Amino acid sequence: MGLIHDRYDKNVFITSLDFLFNWARRSSLWWLQFGLACCAIEMIAASMSRFDLAERFGMLYRASPRQADMMIIAGTVTKKMAPVVRTLYDQMPEPKWVVSMGSCANVGGPYDTYAVLQGVDQVIPVDIYVPGCPPTPEALYYGILELQNRVIKYETMARKQGIAAAEQYREEARQADMAAVDAAPVAPGL
Ligand code: SF4
Repeated sequence: MGLIHDRYDKNVFITSLDFLFNWARRSSLWWLQFGLACCAIEMIAASMSRFDLAERFGMLYRASPRQADMMIIAGTVTKKMAPVVRTLYDQMPEPKWVVSMGSCANVGGPYDTYAVLQGVDQVIPVDIYVPGCPPTPEALYYGILELQNRVIKYETMARKQGIAAAEQYREEARQADMAAVDAAPVAPGL
């Protein structure tokens, strides 16, 4: 009795089921392991010991799309690679999330050429756009935090109002972001 006497108050907490599920889902976004070009180096830097993205957010790299919740498009998407990206996306289970990292993935970057897709959102839906060429690990961090907010809102809506309402919210957010990216001024050469 001596050790645990009078310690229950400090060690028991009460929360809602929503909060618990949201916390678990947003804190364990497993991510499909692949990179397409130089932005991938920044993504790798973000997950190494200095920035520790994977450890801090419970984000494990997965080598199979069937075990991944999230895809980071890090780099230039060529038209040859686009169908592969789409296939990987299709193989991920729902609900799945996409972060477009860097100018190339967002809008084609400096490569306004016949061979490069002018935005990965032409082949898959994108939830978060991270700007920059390349974006810093801090920028990717910010994007992940924003994605976590989306996940929380989506999960809460899905539980309270149903999947259809949550999907509608997600689609509206995607369309608004896509319009903002299209309307953003592009620096010369990017
Ligand atoms: S946005 Fe810049 S750093 Fe990223 S893949 Fe394109 S050229 Fe490379």
